[in-house]
Amino acid sequence: MEKLPFRVGVGYDIHRTAEGDGIWLGGMRVAVPFSLVGQSDADVLLHAATDAILGALGDCDIGHYFPPQAEENRNRSSADFVRFAVAQMEKAGYTLANLDCNIICEEPRIAPLREKLRQSLATLLRVSPARISIKGRSHEGLDAIGERRAIACQVVVLLMAAAGNPS
Ligand SMILES: [Zn+2]
Repeated sequence: MEKLPFRVGVGYDIHRTAEGDGIWLGGMRVAVPFSLVGQSDADVLLHAATDAILGALGDCDIGHYFPPQAEENRNRSSADFVRFAVAQMEKAGYTLANLDCNIICEEPRIAPLREKLRQSLATLLRVSPARISIKGRSHEGLDAIGERRAIACQVVVLLMAAAGNPS
């Protein structure tokens, strides 16, 4: 990988909803009258964040390192995926400049969760919450997301070369 001063990455993920009483979002349990379907804990925000970091590093994607069909990834906490991506980032000599995201869903409403989500993501990514931006978007009743059959998430990250790192 070419050691540039900055590297940008984008991540996207979508999960189907199903019957249930809550979801994992940004490493937090959120009470909603449905669940999300996935082999792991289906944390759409953490999956998109993991892919954004790996993408910035030019380093494959989440499915390469954690195949969804692998038994050890069944019901696995997505915090593991983020921690792996952060370790890859640090090994490559980068730190997270900032992360921005859109959580696209009709429910839950993101605004009341924003500060907790920021804190949760900042803890997992080992940065100040000031570097994390959380935005919620309704899909205005349109398509699968608008019909509450899915939740999607977009994440952009900017990585910067850590000062004095020789790698
Ligand atoms: Zn996912």
